[in-house]
Amino acid sequence: MKALVKAKSEKGLWMQDVPVPEIAPNEVLIRIERTAICGTDMHIYKWDEWAQNNVPVPMVVGHEYGGTVEAIGSTVTRVKVGERVSGEGHVVGNRSRNARAGRFHLDPDTKGIGVNLPGAFAEYLALPEFNVIPLGDDFDIEIAAILDPLGNAVHTALAHDLVGEDVLITGAGPIGIMAARVCERAGARRIVLTDINDWRLDFAKTVTRRTTMVNTMDQDLKAVMSDIGMTEGFDVGLEMSGAKPAFDQMLDTMLMGGQMAMLGIPASPYPVDLGKIVGKALTLKGIYGRQMYETWHKMLAMIDSGLDMKAMITHRFAARDFQDAFDLMETGKTGKVILDWTQ
Ligand code: NAD
Ligand code: ZN
Repeated sequence: MKALVKAKSEKGLWMQDVPVPEIAPNEVLIRIERTAICGTDMHIYKWDEWAQNNVPVPMVVGHEYGGTVEAIGSTVTRVKVGERVSGEGHVVGNRSRNARAGRFHLDPDTKGIGVNLPGAFAEYLALPEFNVIPLGDDFDIEIAAILDPLGNAVHTALAHDLVGEDVLITGAGPIGIMAARVCERAGARRIVLTDINDWRLDFAKTVTRRTTMVNTMDQDLKAVMSDIGMTEGFDVGLEMSGAKPAFDQMLDTMLMGGQMAMLGIPASPYPVDLGKIVGKALTLKGIYGRQMYETWHKMLAMIDSGLDMKAMITHRFAARDFQDAFDLMETGKTGKVILDWTQ
């Protein structure tokens, strides 16, 4: 089968012929139809320090996908051949205290498909039955391919009570934009989304309905807060940039006793003003992945009741034209970019 492989320890990905994965009795073989490119894939493509430390070479990459069940292992009962599916990319163990308590998303033995297990940028993917998410025949295959990052957005946004709250989201990447839309649907009052990239903020306007966009390079966040009628600080903060200036701004503008959910991964460690966290009695919660499988349940229920993320998809390429897609991703002027594996 064709697969996009991190074949060399240098910038790039290579389309290669590799064997179709063999499935174990508890695994499902998925015929991949659409995939989406994630920031993580860009780290692996560019071969930055994080990628060098975490990704063995060679490795089939990719973890955002939708497809159809091609075959099932002998013990699989929950999933049928021919079903439309996506799946959770974190494959967990069954030994740790967290896993055995049902907190699968907190299992330290977790491995990631497309990172340290063979990934989804391929014609076929083998996945444990436990991780497969059946979607129903009518489910949009492109939306299936972006459920992974939408899950990050939903998990972060719903980490705290949003109803009637004022929310600051820092970082208008795909996950920040999706989180803003989720906050709108979930009943937040005012929602402010910041970035330093005008293209991203303009694009975010086409996906959201009532979120206030702020480019913090040329606008004063506190002035915007007062313009939209905020007299105190934000009740909830969702950090989705990984950037220190964004985090500092969030600390500055949170209400006393406010709650922050931290998804963004800093490129390198940065110092934090602990005195402010203590003095403002803030709660910070680190967010890893999605909650298995409650996030999937909430996300699919929100889609079922009208959450429409189609506008997040800005570009589509045949998988063989992957290089054009990665070049475009590097410009930063994209929403979600889809690769089609059926052409
Ligand atoms: P992205 O890189 O596409 O978006 C980040 C955005 O932050 C960019 O638009 C960038 O311009 C913006 N930004 C940079 N400096 C800023 C500043 N000072 N103020 C405001 N915005 C600023 O990333 P994404 O795919 O949307 O993911 C968001 C973050 O979440 C990334 O850091 C990613 O690595 C991380 N992530 C974490 C998990 C997890 O499990 N914790 C899972 C997926 C992604
Ligand atoms: Zn991803």
